[in-house]
Amino acid sequence: MNSNEIFEESKKYMPGGVNSPVRAFNGMDLNPPVIKSGRGVMIKDEDNKEYIDFVLAWGPLFLGHCDEDVVQAIQETSANALAFGAPTKLELDLGKFMCTHLDNIDMIRMVNSGTEATMSAVKLARGYTGKSKIVKFAGCYHGHFDGFLIEAGSGVLTEGIPGCLGVPKESIENTLIGVYNDKNQIKELFKKHGNEIAGVIIEPVAGNMGVIKAEDSFMEELRSLCDEYGSLLIFDEVMTGFRVAFKGAQTLFKVKPDLVTYAKIMGGGLPCGAYGGKREIMEKLSPVGGVYQAGTMSGNPIVMAAGLATLNKLNNNLGYYDYVENIGMKLEQGILKIAQNYKLPLVINRVGGMLTLFFTSLKEVRTYDDVKTCNANMFKRYFKHMLSEGFNIAPSQFESMFLSVKHTEDDINNFLKAFENFASKAN
Ligand SMILES: *Cc1c(COP(=O)(O)O)cnc(C)c1O
Repeated sequence: MNSNEIFEESKKYMPGGVNSPVRAFNGMDLNPPVIKSGRGVMIKDEDNKEYIDFVLAWGPLFLGHCDEDVVQAIQETSANALAFGAPTKLELDLGKFMCTHLDNIDMIRMVNSGTEATMSAVKLARGYTGKSKIVKFAGCYHGHFDGFLIEAGSGVLTEGIPGCLGVPKESIENTLIGVYNDKNQIKELFKKHGNEIAGVIIEPVAGNMGVIKAEDSFMEELRSLCDEYGSLLIFDEVMTGFRVAFKGAQTLFKVKPDLVTYAKIMGGGLPCGAYGGKREIMEKLSPVGGVYQAGTMSGNPIVMAAGLATLNKLNNNLGYYDYVENIGMKLEQGILKIAQNYKLPLVINRVGGMLTLFFTSLKEVRTYDDVKTCNANMFKRYFKHMLSEGFNIAPSQFESMFLSVKHTEDDINNFLKAFENFASKAN
């Protein structure tokens, strides 16, 4: 079966042919390639067509596909340890590593995905504060937990779904919507509901409405409101952790979060997540405290081994972050120059190896409303052009492109060549 045949047949057995909606390329008028292998930054589909990958499994593969050290750790561990549902030394090793190397993490709990991490962190915030309401920001995505599925960013935006069927209104009654980078709005929200707010969850660098960094003064306002009202500040670093810096987006801000969630890179390409923070809060978790959260596969040995191999490699090669910053800057500057030459209206937001091309004539994109001004049709044409030229990018205007330590200057130059070809015909 060729790639297209496999995808068509998949639609008979799995809704939309996929196990996660954005993979289906909805709105792009074409079927996604069915991928069979990956190495470094190259992926190969079932027709043996190769692509330079800027999706990297939607973020996790900062070391590229099938990094040899990660694969070796998985192979060695799987020979003796698939799952026990009992404590293992590997859990201690990864848990201790994260508590020692990351800021503001005294204790940590492993889970199996980013969704699990954020929904559990919110439950913990509620259990700890005894309050019910949660603030999330429009355009931010924190996984598919019911309480977060309003104004939930990319996947939901791309599918054009206003909210989500199957979420009872009772489940979102305690969700308050904040406006990203709007200090006055959040002040008003706290003035009205502050005494009921258990926590505020935020992507410190948003990646799920395209890349937008929280402004320093906005973050400081969040911290001071949380302090004033006894609410917890939760950084969702599922995408940014170990990516925008080894210690994550936390290092970009002066304020300290109370709880932080991780997934994606920390699992080295396997299903993984974690949340952690202050000891006093974390000890509210069962079996020490009264907030129950559990998982048959949580802390799975193979996942822990893949995570450890990844994080150790990053920690031993901190120069990777400068390298990615450097090629990221080349990519950004190259694209902007081409866009200018061909009078293609474009804004780029970039933090390290995370960047988004916003097709808009605004001067800057700093809010969710700004994001909504983008030219969806131009994005679609850009996406299709790049894919056909062999560049795998996310099929949505509201996503980030990801760079890895394996991308080379040649990869960047090739991308720019294909982009120039697009830009020259865009208007
Ligand atoms: C991907 C993502 C999640 C959800 O993680 P899953 O592992 O897909 O459940 C949550 N928050 C952010 C910021 C993400 O980027």
